[in-house]
Amino acid sequence: MEINISRLADGTYQHQFDEPEWSPEDDIRVTDFHADCVLSKAFENHVFKVHIRFTATVPCDRCLSPAAFSLEDEFTVTYSRNEELKGSDPDGDFRYLAPDQNIIDLRRDAEDSVRLALPMKAVCSEDCKGLCPECGKNKNLEPCTCGDGRIDPRWEKLLNFKKN
Ligand SMILES: [Zn+2]
Ligand SMILES: [Zn+2]
Repeated sequence: MEINISRLADGTYQHQFDEPEWSPEDDIRVTDFHADCVLSKAFENHVFKVHIRFTATVPCDRCLSPAAFSLEDEFTVTYSRNEELKGSDPDGDFRYLAPDQNIIDLRRDAEDSVRLALPMKAVCSEDCKGLCPECGKNKNLEPCTCGDGRIDPRWEKLLNFKKN
């Protein structure tokens, strides 16, 4: 997601980026990523307004199966040649751009934006039953008999034996 700004005249420029698949983190898979970037250059300032949309697949909070979300987000970041910004926060919204730096890479910002867009509670479906805390089975796939008051089959045999 690199943009070359060397000898760029003042004005507005459109850039688009597509990424079929990438993983900002082990547990996050991003597919169909599309970014629309509007770069406004005025004097010493380069303002990037970026809109991203993508599908993120993360493990469900309850059952750990992959849960996919269609998401979008927006961020703005300004790179400036203004020397007063020297030493400013490299992750802030305003960043100093050294005279010899002409390539701006928006990937880190896009990754942060992807993380922020993820839902706080990521569940594969609202009525996901989750994993059984006792036997570890995925209760969406197969029912388990833990903790529902049913008699253990081994005890059942014993009870029948007593009856006879
Ligand atoms: Zn789930
Ligand atoms: Zn169970």
